[in-house]
Amino acid sequence: MNMKPTLIQSTIVSLIAATFVAATYGAEMTELQTDVCIVGGGSGGYAAAIGAARAGANVILVEKQDRLGGTSVNAYVCNWEPGVSGPLAREIYDRLAKIGAAGVTMDHNADRKKGPFGLWLITPTETYEQTLRRAANPVRSWRAVVFDPDKLVQTVSAMLAETKRCKVMLETTFVEAVADGKRVESIKIVSKDGKTSRIKARIFIDSTGGAHLCRKLGCETMLGPDAKSRFDEPSAPDKPGQTLNAISLCYRIRKSDRPLRQTPPDPPVSRYPRGAHVTEVPGGDRILNPLAMVPGRMLIDKGYDATLAECRRIAQAHWRSMQENPTFSMFELHSLAPMLGIRESYRVVGEYVLTQNDLLATIAKQTHPDVTALADHSMDVHGKGAQRVHGELKGPYGIPYRCLIPKGWENLLVACRGASFSHIAASSCRLSRTMIQLGRAAGAAAAMAAKDDVPVREIDVAALQKQLGIPASAMKPR
Ligand SMILES: Cc1cc2nc3c(=O)[nH]c(=O)nc-3n(C[C@H](O)[C@H](O)[C@H](O)COP(=O)(O)OP(=O)(O)OC[C@H]3O[C@@H](n4cnc5c(N)ncnc54)[C@H](O)[C@@H]3O)c2cc1C
Repeated sequence: MNMKPTLIQSTIVSLIAATFVAATYGAEMTELQTDVCIVGGGSGGYAAAIGAARAGANVILVEKQDRLGGTSVNAYVCNWEPGVSGPLAREIYDRLAKIGAAGVTMDHNADRKKGPFGLWLITPTETYEQTLRRAANPVRSWRAVVFDPDKLVQTVSAMLAETKRCKVMLETTFVEAVADGKRVESIKIVSKDGKTSRIKARIFIDSTGGAHLCRKLGCETMLGPDAKSRFDEPSAPDKPGQTLNAISLCYRIRKSDRPLRQTPPDPPVSRYPRGAHVTEVPGGDRILNPLAMVPGRMLIDKGYDATLAECRRIAQAHWRSMQENPTFSMFELHSLAPMLGIRESYRVVGEYVLTQNDLLATIAKQTHPDVTALADHSMDVHGKGAQRVHGELKGPYGIPYRCLIPKGWENLLVACRGASFSHIAASSCRLSRTMIQLGRAAGAAAAMAAKDDVPVREIDVAALQKQLGIPASAMKPR
């Protein structure tokens, strides 16, 4: 009798083997335990990790890219626009400035005589303090911060290492979450080499930007413009909208004696933005942010990869055109950002939703007892198809701690641009230094909740505010 298996038999055997291996593999999954687990290592995530670890918690920080920093590093948004900020951003700046890896910029083309772009160059006479105010500050007085993205990664990684309490897992993607009612039990993560692990933590923080952890858990989320009836915002449309704040792909250019002339994309692109926000980075390179490149909705409708491919083509056409300008004729393309610059996607519905009314009231008239961050950036909804909302604010406004608590959840916080903000409020408070404040607040709060074994909404908020250094003027009686 011929015992040699047929092709079909072999295939069945290998399928069974594959299933068996997968099942065994599942049973052998590594399990990690910690006090606080943070998913996403952008501005919100790394600040949360520093905040939690410095407050005494053991932390695991999970990041799918090969380095920390998120949008501010991998999408080349390595500048902090003028605005109110907290002590952690200041500490990071000081460490960077000490090694020549950060500076203060101002617009050297404010009159737009050189072309339709802002030209934010490092200006050594200007100070960090000047970057701390946007509201009620004349445009000519605006100053911003720029930093070397690689050095930011090194600095933040060193700060995390110094705590001796933080395990950073790079190139590791969160894929699933398990909850018991409104309590997160564990999450499943997959490393680059396909190894699967489960993390159990007392408290979880979603810092994925797009609220991926919260969405997997089934938290209520919002997407796009909210109707006026929802939050009674003066600039909200009558009906809910579909448009999202625009997406951009930033790129880096470098000086050259014989600059390579940019080839146009093939097939050609007919529509691309003509202006840009140009920032000098330490060392002399420039980052070009071509502002609204494609509608923000493309990400939802076509997916990440298709949107990135389209933006890469537009960026080539954009640089080809910018290179014609004498200001940039001695520069050539160094690199396109590896990551899309996403301004807006899903936002979580929290215990409180920050709205345009908060922004207009300013901290002077807000009555929240739990403010844990301050911001003063303009309302800034822009891009094709968006109902434009733009307006400078009269002063800083406070962001309550409740914006970081997904509604009803016991041991979950959200500290990223996907926190509990209305569409209009999100257009103002998405800035990196605001995310750093929110991250630090969430991290410190998580450490308190883990230590006292209480739901995140039951921590001592006054003690948290004190720890964060929230000014007395922003602390309202409870
Ligand atoms: C084009 C553009 C220009 C901007 N200009 C400025 C400016 O001039 N000044 C300013 O202050 N702000 C600016 N902003 C806003 C600011 O940069 C961002 O809003 C802010 O950096 C977002 O921080 P975040 O922590 O919320 O998210 P991110 O920085 O995006 O971090 C999210 C992280 O989560 C990770 N992640 C996502 N999913 C998973 C998963 N499943 N598993 C593991 N990790 C995951 C991502 O890889 C990423 O590292 C700009 C934004 C854009 C897009």
